[in-house]
Amino acid sequence: MSAYIVLVITGDPGDAAMIEETLSKARDGPFITEWVQELSAGLQRLRKGGIDIVLVDLYLQDSVGVNTFDALFQLVPPVPIMVLADDENEPAAIEAVQRGAQGYLSKGFFSNALTPQALRSIIERKKVEEALFVEKERARVTLESIGDGVLSTDVACNVTYLNAEAERLTGWTRQEALGRPIAEVLHLIDSETRQPARNPVETVIANKKNMAMYARSLLVRRDGYEAPIEDSIAPIFDRHGQVTGAVVTFRDVSEAHAMARKMAHLAEHDYLTGLPNRLLLYDRLTQAIAYAERHHTAIAVLFLDLDNFKHINDSLGHSIGDALLESVSKRLVAQVRHSDTVSRLGGDEFVVLVLEDTNAEHSTITAEKIIGALSEPHHLSGNELHITTSIGISLFPADGADAETLIKNADTAMYYAKKKGKNNFQFFNGDMNARAVERQLTEVELRRAIDGNEFVLHYQPKVDLASGKVTGAEALIRWQHAQRGMVLPDSFIAVAEDSGLIVPIGGVVLRKACEQLKEWLAAGFEEFAVSVNVSALEFRDRRFVSKVRQTLAETGVPPNLLQLELTESVLMRNIDTSISVLHELKEMGVQLAIDDFGTGYSSLSYLSQFPIDVLKIDQSFVQTITGNKGNGIIVSAVIGMGTSLNQRVIAEGVETQEQLDFLNEHHCDEGQGYLFGAAIPAEEFRHFLGTDNATEAKESHMRQ
Ligand code: C2E
Ligand code: MG
Ligand code: MG
Repeated sequence: MSAYIVLVITGDPGDAAMIEETLSKARDGPFITEWVQELSAGLQRLRKGGIDIVLVDLYLQDSVGVNTFDALFQLVPPVPIMVLADDENEPAAIEAVQRGAQGYLSKGFFSNALTPQALRSIIERKKVEEALFVEKERARVTLESIGDGVLSTDVACNVTYLNAEAERLTGWTRQEALGRPIAEVLHLIDSETRQPARNPVETVIANKKNMAMYARSLLVRRDGYEAPIEDSIAPIFDRHGQVTGAVVTFRDVSEAHAMARKMAHLAEHDYLTGLPNRLLLYDRLTQAIAYAERHHTAIAVLFLDLDNFKHINDSLGHSIGDALLESVSKRLVAQVRHSDTVSRLGGDEFVVLVLEDTNAEHSTITAEKIIGALSEPHHLSGNELHITTSIGISLFPADGADAETLIKNADTAMYYAKKKGKNNFQFFNGDMNARAVERQLTEVELRRAIDGNEFVLHYQPKVDLASGKVTGAEALIRWQHAQRGMVLPDSFIAVAEDSGLIVPIGGVVLRKACEQLKEWLAAGFEEFAVSVNVSALEFRDRRFVSKVRQTLAETGVPPNLLQLELTESVLMRNIDTSISVLHELKEMGVQLAIDDFGTGYSSLSYLSQFPIDVLKIDQSFVQTITGNKGNGIIVSAVIGMGTSLNQRVIAEGVETQEQLDFLNEHHCDEGQGYLFGAAIPAEEFRHFLGTDNATEAKESHMRQ
């Protein structure tokens, strides 16, 4: 044990010597005595540190009375100070004790053998006190700074302490709350019954065990504000194991509850429109089925898919697309009854559940109302957008016994609504499934057709309107099917696209078209271009450009005699990629045409960036040129635009002389259609070109 260092401050050398003598005789816990005569010297020594106790005579040369004590105490409050006193200055010593001195040592005891022991215990006690103070202070700061409310009570359940958070949560200040029954300060009610909740502190004190509060408790703050709280209560024991009170820790969980509710909502709702998502739809539909079974009622499932939404999204951007979906969802909700459910499955697909009586009449009315409401123009950030929808309807119990089947069948019916020209609704019927099976079969057969070389190309002439001369031919695919005969592309291209088979099929078409052209050129016919249709999947295939290059090289067709026809929607899907692929093709020398122009949502600013040679006006405009004034204007506008962009304009689907006259009047470059000739096999096209004899062919052209 290291020695205690005692600082003796006294002007009396005799006292000092006596004290030192007494202390030096102490057997255990040796003392080292340092002596100074004046307060100033004492303060100086104390500043250096290391002193365990100060023994001071209050009457010194440079300081007199209790002031002497004050000066020392102020400097080093944790060091115990004993006053050396004789009878006559005892009152000053007593005052010093009241102000914080540990005690006083009367002159008669300076040489007392018990003095060292007394000093030692004073030093040790003061050390413990200091440590305790630090400990308590740490606890206090901790309690004040934690985010939980902490409240303690005595064994009679009266409040003994509140931390700052508890003050905030209860609305009671510590002073006001002290001594009050806990039930008054921590005012709890049951969130469901709204009755006062049983205060758990009594139970904890009685059972001497920790306890969690009832989950349903609401804390009513002093001002009436209510918050759900969560927490626990623990009994406090004294050293002998007796319960002396309890500590309650509690926190406001309204935010956590709100977050949990939000998470639950997010999991079941669509982020964009806030409508129930697929998960919640299945849940609601399953419940509705159970209800309908018990009450012998019906349910209708309306499966909606917006028509041409992809075009809008691709050409006007996703933010407009999103805004349109929100607008659509608002209108849908406005069309249904409160008991019906509108949900979004994702993309542009929605499902509406309509609760029916026994006859399915609400679904018809609802479908009609929806079709009407959606087709009204949508005004979105300066755009006036027009959209329609196709709806398929399945009924419970007729079309399925569970949510999955009903939704699948409504989806199938929707597909038929699309096929029927969109913007209409169709009820599901069993045949549709048969046709879905047929679609499946088509896919299987298509695979076989590729290997079996069942595809042939027919050629349709394109004619220069001014001279009447054939400028080229469009290669159109036909499927020579063993049982079904000649199958037209409309019956299988969609399946080929869905299944990805369009990529190998497109490769076959490209090769056959080039080989055929090469044959015609070799036979001596005047040079003309053959055009080939390219679908989205082929165009986006990374190997497309090299496939074109390789085919041209292998067949020996000059690149400028090959024309590729792409639709607007293909080009608009991923504009940056489109531009770079088009430029690669252009550099190779092939001609590029936009097919079915006018049916997609082209952005004109992009259109001028595409290196396009030819615009093909869609036949729907051409065929109604004369009947519908608006279409005539569109056709003449497209001709004007093509001319100014240095593009040749071809009118598709020219069937009548009247249409031809209009086109001539507006200086359309070329035409294609039944008026000039339908698509025919290559051998016949050869005749169409003139004659088998190339020289004759040339002469016949010159005669025209
Ligand atoms: P498209 O590229 O717009 O081809 C023109 C379609 O209109 C052809 O139908 C053609 O026979 C038809 N047509 C031509 N003149 C007239 C007319 O005066 N009146 C009417 N009403 N129709 C006319 P087709 O051969 O049935 O082809 C339909 C579509 O299938 C094509 O439309 C094209 O998009 C696609 N297609 C054809 N062959 C291929 C191919 O090899 N690959 C790809 N990916 N698609 C192809
Ligand atoms: Mg075409
Ligand atoms: Mg076309």
